[in-house]
Amino acid sequence: MLILVMNCGSSSVKFAVLDPQNPSEVPLSGLFERVGSVGVGHAGASATIKRGSEKREQALVGGQYADAFALIRAELDAMGLSAKLGAVGHRVVHGGAVFNAPARITPAVLAAIRQCIPLAPLHNPANVAGIEAALEAFPKLPQVAVFDTAFHQTMPPAAYRYAVPERWYTQHGVRRYGFHGTSHGFVAERAAEMLGQPLDNLNLITAHLGNGCSVCAVAGGKSLDTSMGLTPLDGLMMGTRSGDVDPGLHEYMNRQAGLSVEEVTATLNKQSGLLGVSGLTNDMRDLEAAAATNEKARLALEMFVYRLARAIAQMAVALGRVDGLVFTGGIGENSDYVRAATLKRLQVLGFELDDEANKVAVRGQSGRITRAGSPAALVVNTNEELAIARETAALVGEN
Ligand code: AMP
Repeated sequence: MLILVMNCGSSSVKFAVLDPQNPSEVPLSGLFERVGSVGVGHAGASATIKRGSEKREQALVGGQYADAFALIRAELDAMGLSAKLGAVGHRVVHGGAVFNAPARITPAVLAAIRQCIPLAPLHNPANVAGIEAALEAFPKLPQVAVFDTAFHQTMPPAAYRYAVPERWYTQHGVRRYGFHGTSHGFVAERAAEMLGQPLDNLNLITAHLGNGCSVCAVAGGKSLDTSMGLTPLDGLMMGTRSGDVDPGLHEYMNRQAGLSVEEVTATLNKQSGLLGVSGLTNDMRDLEAAAATNEKARLALEMFVYRLARAIAQMAVALGRVDGLVFTGGIGENSDYVRAATLKRLQVLGFELDDEANKVAVRGQSGRITRAGSPAALVVNTNEELAIARETAALVGEN
């Protein structure tokens, strides 16, 4: 059975059609850019379609989600694959405290996702628009929502509550939710396979390091703590996001520079992190290249690594015992520099890097990068599309 996996963002939509039993082949995938949500098509919308390894770009006439789905359907028809399509799996960013697992889309589930919009005003509206358009485009197919937050619903209150008045929590849902859950869960399972031990017995720290970055304490396959919080702005330093800052910052910048709450938040989301400190780029590759000659780039790298190592040590507190550390995401899978510098900072946890193994572990080559006798540190390739496809197939199969 093929699953259509949809990842609908505010201005771009990624999709992949794959068979979770045979993940090495992705017959169809693509990206729609500048696509408008229902009713507001963009004239400049474009589509990049990949059939296997063949890639082409074209305008997306109409520019709406509905047009994107029509194009996907036409591609599947042309490839003779429509009859094999069994379900649609949607990545949904915020499931609040309502969803602790993927959910089959029903009117009630869709309403609950809508109710989470205040928690993720940038992301959930696009997810809802994508689901609505998919229901129209594929009315006969079962559809499933897979939440970024669901994996972290196993955190204990001591980890997920903020030290603010209880009524903020009960009335407004102010708590830590965590994100990247699909990736943290997926790489923890893969790490257990690589270590040859049952996931149930393992205490792992997973570090998802892409444009967004978070760490997670995973005990027996369950999240005990994570660095992202109420929003994906919390925790680690990221490409353009600040990670945690002093909660007094908004008021201070308002008084000093006359910035509104919205302006401070936008700056923390879009002009901070690696970009903000280096003044050059949010891209780790470019930053590493610049660091040889540029002091601000060097500082940005040093801060990224220091804050990452500190957050990993925090996750060790949540676990008590650490059996393994996992690096994943674009940076985690590719930057031998970040991995080496982070492990050097983590000698307090007993990690000893295997230099050679670290240098060869690049994208597509997962493996262990610490010496025998050291706690295991692994590079694991994440695959969120596959994880969503699997969860979707599992849920549809059960019903
Ligand atoms: P992702 O969001 O998972 O695609 O990750 C994007 C991040 O991975 C960007 O900061 C990229 O610069 C970084 N990245 C990709 N390839 C490399 C590489 N070879 N070395 C360092 N960083 C990389």
